[in-house]
Amino acid sequence: MISNFINNQYVRSQSERSQPVFDPATGKANNQVLLSSRSEVEGAIGVAQEAFSGWSATTPLNRARVLFKFKVLLEENRNELAEIISREHGKVFSDALGEITRGLEVVEFACGIPHLQKGEHSLNVGTGVDSHSQMMPLGVVAGISPFNFPVMVPMWMFPIALATGNTFILKPSEKNPSAPLFVAELLKQAGLPDGVFNVIQGDKEAVDTLLQDERIQAVSFVGSTPIAEYIYSEGAKYGKRVQALGGAKNHMVVMPDADIDGAVNALMGAAYGAAGERCMAISVAVAVGDEVGDALIGRLQDKLATLKVGAGYGQTIENDMGPLITNEHKQKVCGYIGQGVSEGATLVVDGREHELAKTSEGFFVGGSLFDHVLPEMTIYKEEIFGPVLCVLRVDSYEQALKLINDHEYGNGTAIFTADGDTARDFTANVQVGMVGVNVPIPVPMAFHSFGGWKRSLFGPLHMHGPDGVRFFTRMKAITTRWPTSNVKSNSTQSSQTHAEFVMPTMK
Ligand code: NAD
Repeated sequence: MISNFINNQYVRSQSERSQPVFDPATGKANNQVLLSSRSEVEGAIGVAQEAFSGWSATTPLNRARVLFKFKVLLEENRNELAEIISREHGKVFSDALGEITRGLEVVEFACGIPHLQKGEHSLNVGTGVDSHSQMMPLGVVAGISPFNFPVMVPMWMFPIALATGNTFILKPSEKNPSAPLFVAELLKQAGLPDGVFNVIQGDKEAVDTLLQDERIQAVSFVGSTPIAEYIYSEGAKYGKRVQALGGAKNHMVVMPDADIDGAVNALMGAAYGAAGERCMAISVAVAVGDEVGDALIGRLQDKLATLKVGAGYGQTIENDMGPLITNEHKQKVCGYIGQGVSEGATLVVDGREHELAKTSEGFFVGGSLFDHVLPEMTIYKEEIFGPVLCVLRVDSYEQALKLINDHEYGNGTAIFTADGDTARDFTANVQVGMVGVNVPIPVPMAFHSFGGWKRSLFGPLHMHGPDGVRFFTRMKAITTRWPTSNVKSNSTQSSQTHAEFVMPTMK
């Protein structure tokens, strides 16, 4: 039974509700996760609240030192962690290692917290009067994460939250709950005090408790758009600071002057890597001109024939793509493929016909490729979150840009071109939060911030980087005058000899 980690120890939930945790490569339920009750979540919040005064008073340098030890432990244990990720998620081992590295980079960023959390100081804002600002921690904050990055997404959140002096409750996805527990153990080994980082397993009941409890100051969420929207409005209703990242439909424009082989290789990795279960996956290729469209389809079809699909774990296995997360999700993805056909798109490669999709008990689907997809089709409008690439054909760059800007999502996008003017116009005018030029998955590094536009993100602040520090702190501005400065400055302005009732101004 998989359960909670509270106050630096495993605590078995008393909940009577549980759900199976599958190995997606075999389709077998190897474990169960207990879904915490409201009172158990409230208990964990109490523990985190208790830990806040000590942790927030710990010097930033000492908080950073704990994170530095955690970084070293993560590096030493990365293979074991990647194996845990792969067994519950399905992604291939090398990809799981990549996820850990991208999370680790946020830990490295957070190790610089003594510098990042520095306030500003102004001398003599008035005669003998100084002003400074301080970035203060919020208190107990919560992170709610999706199944597709069980380590990286929580690590977009908690390293900065902890470094800035908050205490943290993580509610991971119930579909793959084990990796965050391993991370919690490493934090303990790194010397993180009791109660500062806690993992609560659960579903809607746990999430709603976090949203409604007044001791939670901020909620950082990543998941699908309908739930992100719910978290944002519900959290705001209860007076919380919220950042809620949602779904995506990421387009890659291929211009006639692009290096087509480079674009095809980029599309293969970006569309089929992690079986398309990435919020920054490219799910739409926009071919500018039929010549580009024909070239893309021909070469993608050839490459798909060599795509190695299979189990992700076992460190010597070299598959390109693993299974989907659950059988339910497999059925959903297959349903979209069927709908694409019935709505008139040309199915060039059918992932449902892959041998493993037909014979294995695991949740496999091969890579699928659609040509002549139109903007009104469901497979274009909705996020499929599987290994399905839609190719749309347009006549001009302007049509490609309009297509992207008209879509409800605005997470990531890319353009492949050899022309600087086109690239410059694209980066200036595309209504998307993260943009790549000849880079297919433009995930910003930890010292920049990650976030989409439109219905891919609810809330003003993005994840990690400077926005992450802003999200997990609040500003305090302090204005100071000392009695001695009255004497030294010899100024009438600094000496309050009588009460003044007008708005204070600098004279
Ligand atoms: P999900 O929305 O189903 O679940 C995310 C979290 O919300 C989980 O912890 C889950 O327990 C919780 N949850 C689910 N239903 C809930 C409900 N009714 N009330 C309250 N909480 C609920 O998402 P998922 O399937 O785990 O992850 C895939 C989605 O996440 C995709 O849409 C993907 O695009 C998105 N995603 C976005 C980003 C990004 O940066 N924008 C990154 C990763 C994943």
